[in-house]
Amino acid sequence: MTEPLLNELSGEGRCGCLLPDLDVPPAELPAEFLRDDLPLPEVGEVDLVRHYVRLSQMNYAVDTGFYPLGSCTMKYNPKVNEETARLPGFVHTHPYQDELTVQGSLQLIWELQEFLREIGGFAGVSLQPAAGAQGEFAGVLMIRAYHRERGDAKRHIMLIPDSAHGTNPASTSMSGYDTVEIKSDARGNVDLEDLRAHCNDEVAGLMLTNPNTLGLFDEHVVEIAALVHGCGGLLYGDGANMNALLGIVKPGELGFDVMHYNLHKTFSTPHGGGGPGAGPVGVNEKLLRYLPGPIVTRVEVKGEHTQEHEDEDIPSYVYIWSVPEASIGRMKSFYGNFGVLVRAYTYICSLGAAGLRKASETAVLNANYLLHRLKGLYPLPYDRRCMHEFVLSGRREAAPDIHTLDIAKRLMDYGFHPPTIYFPLIVPEALMIEPTETESKRTLDAFCEAMHKIAAEAVEHPELLHDAPHGTPVRRLDEVRAARQPKLTW
Ligand SMILES: *Cc1c(COP(=O)(O)O)cnc(C)c1O
Repeated sequence: MTEPLLNELSGEGRCGCLLPDLDVPPAELPAEFLRDDLPLPEVGEVDLVRHYVRLSQMNYAVDTGFYPLGSCTMKYNPKVNEETARLPGFVHTHPYQDELTVQGSLQLIWELQEFLREIGGFAGVSLQPAAGAQGEFAGVLMIRAYHRERGDAKRHIMLIPDSAHGTNPASTSMSGYDTVEIKSDARGNVDLEDLRAHCNDEVAGLMLTNPNTLGLFDEHVVEIAALVHGCGGLLYGDGANMNALLGIVKPGELGFDVMHYNLHKTFSTPHGGGGPGAGPVGVNEKLLRYLPGPIVTRVEVKGEHTQEHEDEDIPSYVYIWSVPEASIGRMKSFYGNFGVLVRAYTYICSLGAAGLRKASETAVLNANYLLHRLKGLYPLPYDRRCMHEFVLSGRREAAPDIHTLDIAKRLMDYGFHPPTIYFPLIVPEALMIEPTETESKRTLDAFCEAMHKIAAEAVEHPELLHDAPHGTPVRRLDEVRAARQPKLTW
């Protein structure tokens, strides 16, 4: 891309809007609120539009290309979700409105609570948390409330496998618990011996991701639940990888006491820069009374509300806000990210139960197809059938000077977003690939072809990888410095 000739767009007197003539008396403003100088850019409307559209085109998105960012489930965001989220009846409500005037919105929330409850196999769900990490925090706070209410005050340890996402120990320490790491075994499962050695009456619980971040279903999940429960702890489920399990496994039935869902991963709502997320939590009977509130409860009404129904068999309901008895409280202002909830609800309704299962089956199939095509080329530390994602290593004997970072950067030249790299931490030079179910075989084949070309380049022209990316608006960045000291002007 060539640099625009017009670098500095601002110029004195340029203006992007016309204000109407004043039709009220000018107000006298207190002098201390006024300033003589306010150096804002002055640009015309067209220049402003071009500036932002040009910036947006430097971005990479699910809507522009394949995005196999492991553990993030960057699936396509169906546009019908946007249509429903923009329906005037949803957009023009206000959180302070009387609940009787927003029954449709409350019904949607209640039904989504029920859908997620059913999908996860739990007793209750709260849609309050605004992200997976906040769902984790809510879950750990519920575990803490459970132990405290029973007077079991000496539990201060949360066990976390070494393959876990960094948000797990963060949620734990925010809740005042100490983290103790549990090793993985040679097959990528939780090491049962190590777990057994750490189970005691100081353990508040274990946070387990299943399938874990290696993309492997823990073969001992039932034993793990029994061990943790056996020492009086509770089992937390990091549900970020639910995209492998929809309609196939209910975590509540495996022994998880609480789990968060990532609506922006599994349920197709936009991710990251695309808008806010949602990380609802599901719990079993033990934790029902601690759920963050308010949640929506459905109440059957008789009498005046049913008069419109001639047929007495059709029950009539009102939906009301309620706060569970011993709730840990609110996780966020008002009622969660409602627009995101509408999108996830739409996704679930448009796929239906059979469609959700098909989505997970296809996600697992797509991942295994890629794994099969790439495993001879890049080392595979845990050689098992994967779930919805898998982890390779970018370190090949044939190309000792090449690191995973070089492969990731070179993929950008081929038009692909890189996979997750250097995570999970237990795999050196990790490349964590998650294709999702929404990609066609054609796209998966093109990605494999790029990975094959890169493998050959790594041996024949390693400088091509070391200097990559070659075709992006900015070349290789010092990523830490770019994040800590961003240059926002020139
Ligand atoms: C994404 C993810 C999280 C955190 O979810 P956010 O919605 O990004 O806060 C936690 N655990 C795992 C395994 C994840 O992939």
